[in-house]
Amino acid sequence: MIYIRSKEEIEIIRKSALMVSATLTEVAKLLRPGLTTLEIDKVAEQFIRDNGGIPSFKGYNGFPASVCISVNDVVVHGFPSKYELKDGDIITVDCGFYKNGYHGDSAYTFAVGDVKPEVLQLLKITKESVFKGVEQACDNNRVGDVSYAIEHFTSKVHPYGVVRELVGHGIGRDLHEDPQVPNYGRRGDGKRLKEGMVIAIEPMINLGKKEVFTWDDGWTVATKDGLPSAHFEHTTAVRKGKGEALSSFAPIEAAETANAELNSSYYSIVTAPVKVG
Ligand code: MG
Ligand code: MG
Repeated sequence: MIYIRSKEEIEIIRKSALMVSATLTEVAKLLRPGLTTLEIDKVAEQFIRDNGGIPSFKGYNGFPASVCISVNDVVVHGFPSKYELKDGDIITVDCGFYKNGYHGDSAYTFAVGDVKPEVLQLLKITKESVFKGVEQACDNNRVGDVSYAIEHFTSKVHPYGVVRELVGHGIGRDLHEDPQVPNYGRRGDGKRLKEGMVIAIEPMINLGKKEVFTWDDGWTVATKDGLPSAHFEHTTAVRKGKGEALSSFAPIEAAETANAELNSSYYSIVTAPVKVG
C-alpha cells in the first residue's frame, strides 16, 4: 500500500526530516580524529530527545543505537562503538527522527581530516546522485525512473559499484513503507509515482565493486573488496515536474565548512612552526 499524504502530513514529515538534518549538523560540528562513534550516537540521541523527538532507529527490529554509523568499507547499519575516528576516515551517519506521528530519514557521509581525493570524489558523486533521483521523483514517473537515474550517473557516467541488496523506501507513519526504491533499474519500470507520495531516496555507492556482505552481528553491511562506500539520503516528496527534498544538506555543509576552517587554523598554529625549515 502506497500512501498519498495530505499537504499537512507532508509538512509534518518535512519537520521531522529537517530535524534529522539538524541532528546531522550537530554531528558535523564535532567530527574530528579521536572522537568515538559511540560519542556521536550519544550527542545525536540527546539532540533528538531535546527537540521532542524519538530516534526512529533505536530498537527498530532490535537495532541497538540511535543512529547507524558506518565507517570506510562499512556501507550501512554500522553499530556505534568505541572505535576512534582517524584522519582520512569517511563516516556515514544515518538518522531517523519521529515526532507527531511521522518519521524523517536522512543520511550523510562525512570526511574526517585529510581524505584521499578519489574517496572525496566518491562522496561528491554519491551526493549528486541523490539529486538525480530526487529530480525523477515526479508525478506520473515510475520508481524505475528514479532508480535508473541513480544507477546511470554512478555506474555509467562514473565508475562505481551500486549496492543492490539495500534500497530506498516509502516513509511516513512508518519508517519503512512501500514502495521499495532500488538504486538500479530500468526507466519506466515499477510502481507509478503520484504527487503526495513520500519516499526516501538513498544511494549506497561503492568505490570498487558492488558486492557486499553482512557481518556476524547480523546488521553491519560492508563491501566485499574492503574499499570505501558512501551513502546519502533525502526524504523526498513526489511533486509535479520534479521531486522535492524535504531534508536538507545545506546546514550540514555549512557546519562541515566551518569545522574544516576551525581545524585548518588549529593545524596552522600547532603544526606550522614544526614544518618550517
Ligand atoms: Mg536512513
Ligand atoms: Mg532510509
